[in-house]
Amino acid sequence: MQLSGTLSPASSHYLTLEEKYGAHNYHPIPVVLTKGVGIFVWDVDDKRYYDFLSGYSAVNQGHCHPAIIDALIEQAGRLTLTSRAFHSDLLGEYTAYITRLFGYDKVLPMNTGVEAVETALKLCRRWGYDVKGIPENRARIIVCEGTFNGRTTGVISFSSDPSARSGFGPFMPGFDIIPYNDLAALAHALEDKNVAGFLVEPIQGEAGVVIPDEGYLAKAKNMCLDAQVLFIADEIQTGLGRTGKLLACDYENVHPDILILGKALGGGVLPVSAVLADDEIMLTIKPGEHGSTFGGNPLACKVAMTALQVLIDERMSSNAAVMGNLFREELSSIDSPYLSEVRGRGLLNAIVIDHPEPDTAWELCMKLKDLGLLAKPTHGDKIRLAPPLIIGNEEVLDCVGIIREALLTL
Ligand code: PLP
Repeated sequence: MQLSGTLSPASSHYLTLEEKYGAHNYHPIPVVLTKGVGIFVWDVDDKRYYDFLSGYSAVNQGHCHPAIIDALIEQAGRLTLTSRAFHSDLLGEYTAYITRLFGYDKVLPMNTGVEAVETALKLCRRWGYDVKGIPENRARIIVCEGTFNGRTTGVISFSSDPSARSGFGPFMPGFDIIPYNDLAALAHALEDKNVAGFLVEPIQGEAGVVIPDEGYLAKAKNMCLDAQVLFIADEIQTGLGRTGKLLACDYENVHPDILILGKALGGGVLPVSAVLADDEIMLTIKPGEHGSTFGGNPLACKVAMTALQVLIDERMSSNAAVMGNLFREELSSIDSPYLSEVRGRGLLNAIVIDHPEPDTAWELCMKLKDLGLLAKPTHGDKIRLAPPLIIGNEEVLDCVGIIREALLTL
């Protein structure tokens, strides 16, 4: 068993290998996991932890959900990849399933989240030229400060995080960055007739679970409608039950013109992402103009349908809503001078740590790890707390006990 603050020989072995042979593009919590079931993961020394990151919300359904794994195995032994040069007997079924579920004419399947964001940006620009009539190469897309939409050179072009951009220029033009949750700034930006779209996270996840004012999304959607601008929701992190509804936009009855999904769409087992839109937008892209070798592969189609069905059958959204309320209520009752804020919706939550030492959130995560709960700071002083959506009452209370104990020893 691993002692507090020290690494077991087994853990050290794996960490050393990664450190020596893997690129240093992440700074993980020093724990080496080997097994996952539901809301729990185990390290190589067989210590069990609550998983409060859920693969950055890709494991909403819980680790190795039996129905998802069964679907994966069954399809893996049958047909995994055709490329889009040929049809498969699952792509049609999947496209019908997901478009019906979310209420769109069409879906464009991709793999990772950022690929879906890039796809949405291309679709938006193309619509801007072909439908709205923006002069060639003049289309602009409004984005918000603090947004996180992935790591490609296109997407980091509008990141406001210096560590995502520094040394990676030159950047792609065509983006107008406005403050998040600021309708006056949006109104001003929308005055430009060359604006084709407004890309927004309904809650900014990576920024530390930043929730806009009630009504922001609905008003922004209406303003976009008036300005003939596409409202594009990146629900890669907020979607699929995470915030207590199937989509975070559902809280304001907003139906985005372009919806971007990823992460939990692959049930935590495969990278599966999707862009949904109606024909007026989607059919602006013609054969050969965009694609992906793996996008829409039969294995991904099967896994995604199962991942969505499991979310619905097991009422994970409503469980997230109920457990989220309980979690925040209990967290708020913790008496610690360092706990300056508890915020969130559903099971997408964050605590803000107020301490003179800049590494305190990291230290708290190390204490949580020792006590059997895994979480990671985001943007220094914030810790995101986002367990799989199948967590129950007693487990929530147990986890709050762990967080209380860790805070008291700071
Ligand atoms: N968009 C949002 C809102 C995200 O949170 C993320 C990842 O954290 C992405 C896009 C990028 O997804 P991926 O890492 O699968 O490319």
